[in-house]
Amino acid sequence: VLKRQLDGLSAELVVCARSRADVVRTLAAAWRFGVPITARGGGTGTHGQAVPLAGGAVLDLTRLDRILWAREGSVRVEAGATLINLERTMRERGWELRVFPSAKRQATAGGFVCGGNAGIGSVHWGTLGDPGNLIAAEIVTLEAVPRFIELRGAATGLVSQAFGTTGVVLEVELPLAGAVSWRDVAIAFDDFIQGATFCLTAAGMPGIDCRLVSMVESTIVSSFKGLRERAATGESLAMLMVAPSGLVALSELAAAHGGRIVLETGSVAAEAGAGATPIYEYSWNHATLQMLKHDPSITYLDSLFPQDDPLERVSAMRQMFGDELPMHLEFLRMGDGMRCRGMQIVRFTTEARLAEIIRIHEENGVLVANPHAYTIEDGDGPKQRSDNQRRFKHEVDPLGLLNPGKMRDYVPAHLTGTAAE
Ligand SMILES: Cc1cc2nc3c(=O)[nH]c(=O)nc-3n(C[C@H](O)[C@H](O)[C@H](O)COP(=O)(O)OP(=O)(O)OC[C@H]3O[C@@H](n4cnc5c(N)ncnc54)[C@H](O)[C@@H]3O)c2cc1C
Repeated sequence: VLKRQLDGLSAELVVCARSRADVVRTLAAAWRFGVPITARGGGTGTHGQAVPLAGGAVLDLTRLDRILWAREGSVRVEAGATLINLERTMRERGWELRVFPSAKRQATAGGFVCGGNAGIGSVHWGTLGDPGNLIAAEIVTLEAVPRFIELRGAATGLVSQAFGTTGVVLEVELPLAGAVSWRDVAIAFDDFIQGATFCLTAAGMPGIDCRLVSMVESTIVSSFKGLRERAATGESLAMLMVAPSGLVALSELAAAHGGRIVLETGSVAAEAGAGATPIYEYSWNHATLQMLKHDPSITYLDSLFPQDDPLERVSAMRQMFGDELPMHLEFLRMGDGMRCRGMQIVRFTTEARLAEIIRIHEENGVLVANPHAYTIEDGDGPKQRSDNQRRFKHEVDPLGLLNPGKMRDYVPAHLTGTAAE
């Protein structure tokens, strides 16, 4: 859907900032000459987030990658630092990230804040938007004389998942967790729902410390090079990152649910090893990526099953759609409960059918955050957050030059003739 809408759109200029001063100078020049600016980190943002709809300049921030300080379980980092380098450095000091996307190798701290929301670690810590998971972000405005603004606590919601439309993020302050020697574990199940029941139980057990709990259907597993060899044909896989202390309880729980452990290895070594793939690179959006390598015609859904009896809805959707939507579930904490997020593979046929699939899910109580729309409003953002972001944009980007077109309902005050709110 987005390929048709976005193919061929590109910037006319790339600016590689090497310092904060470079960013300020670039934004002041953009104001003067009316040039659109699309900030860019690792470029892994989905649904066209980093595609410059109106041309102009792409502002590459990956050289602003210094770790500024780390103390008492928090770290302050420049926006362009990759999450993998950040975690490696923190691990040497006994700390690790709370939440990171499966695209950790390329994704930057600033890109994750502005484009992402959850991932590995969310089964314990929730999403990036949960209070306490993002301490602060410093932005610079796009004005004649750009200003620095420090957003702390709830105010970070003004840039969170705003696709760089409400300021260029220069620095990010994140909370850390104590480093754990995680184990990558894969458990094979003959029956998908049995495996999903195991996952929901394991994810909710306070004594088993998990960093990742995912469940993927056998059809998807068959495209997982490096992992599929461990499962028999037709077996679905539960994929987990577990603290060593939880291994005994986890294997007992797996056996009680009819599961068979087919992989158990060190997560850090798998991430570092040449040719090895850490288990998280089969989870979250990487499951889709792995399958795309085999079948470029597939796409995916991003959905949230109801809190009450989610697996009953999962079963109902599987019966309704069969192989048109191979199932992939991620388990994560939301508010005070464990939730089940569907990142189903979709065997794409037409846009009309895709829209119908989304409608049927919503009619059945499964919320869909549409990953086939490129604006903030048409994606998954809560309305209150995008209303606040729109008001803030009048202050920080009055000409509407930051990633234009992504905040669908923003009209610069000088074009409406009305003063900014
Ligand atoms: C295979 C794959 C797996 C993924 N897994 C996950 C996952 O598990 N969880 C998840 O949440 N997301 C996931 N994503 C989406 C994406 O990786 C994350 O959103 C990621 O954090 C984006 O980081 P990035 O540095 O690549 O950002 P980019 O793609 O460079 O940018 C993302 C958005 O933020 C803006 N932006 C970037 N840097 C700045 C800045 N410094 N200031 C202002 N705006 C900025 C860009 O303009 C763009 O709109 C995945 C994507 C892929 C392709």
